[in-house]
Amino acid sequence: HRNTIVAANWKMNGDASLISEMTTALNAITISDDVQVIICPSAPYLGALTQANSNSRVAIGAQNINEQLKGALTGEVSALMLKDLSVQYVIVGHSERRSLFAENSELIAEKAKVALAQGLTPIVCIGESEQEREDGNTENVLSQQLAPVLAALESHELFDVVFAYEPVWAIGTGKTASAEMAQQTHRFIREYIAATDANVAEKVAILYGGSVNAGNYQELFAQPDIDGGLIGGASLKVEEFKTICAAE
Ligand code: 13P
Repeated sequence: HRNTIVAANWKMNGDASLISEMTTALNAITISDDVQVIICPSAPYLGALTQANSNSRVAIGAQNINEQLKGALTGEVSALMLKDLSVQYVIVGHSERRSLFAENSELIAEKAKVALAQGLTPIVCIGESEQEREDGNTENVLSQQLAPVLAALESHELFDVVFAYEPVWAIGTGKTASAEMAQQTHRFIREYIAATDANVAEKVAILYGGSVNAGNYQELFAQPDIDGGLIGGASLKVEEFKTICAAE
């Protein structure tokens, strides 16, 4: 039995007052021992969020790291800094990073490796575009996104990875994959991982992302191969996000 992960990806949204309202709301609720909540704000807010959070079921994550640990890389954030701030998770390879910042799967594998080396859990995102799904290429695309990650990491490292399947056409569009379609794709991802290491595949969390909200999360999370969600828009709404965190 795998635990459920409810991860908030605030993207380039949120401010000091959202940090304060969200932490006040989450500090006040009981979150099941089977649920791990993760909030990933923009980097400037990581410190404030860490300090304001007192719910032991809520962990903090970043949205990206550089693959280097330090140096002359203006504007970048390193895994060392995240570790220093007691950040536990970092999203790598979000589709927005892939498409808008030209990150490829090899770079994303490198970032995951660097994160793991610093004791951070990478949340590795994969997902196909609408065209790729229409062309019947979904499984190909997912395989190609997964392969470099599976090749770069040792089995003992893979146990500490969280995967997130986010069909690009479902992100921010209000178009969720049906629970059935999502389950089918998650099943494929787990089987693909099993070809590298069956034990890892059995234990590893695979989150669904793409228009998850308070109205659809239960059906999605109830699927056997869906271990929670990576939530954008709905994670910026305090009441809605609290509902998703509390209801497991
Ligand atoms: P939405 O929940 O806004 O569709 O975003 C999903 C996402 O990209 C989370 O990483």
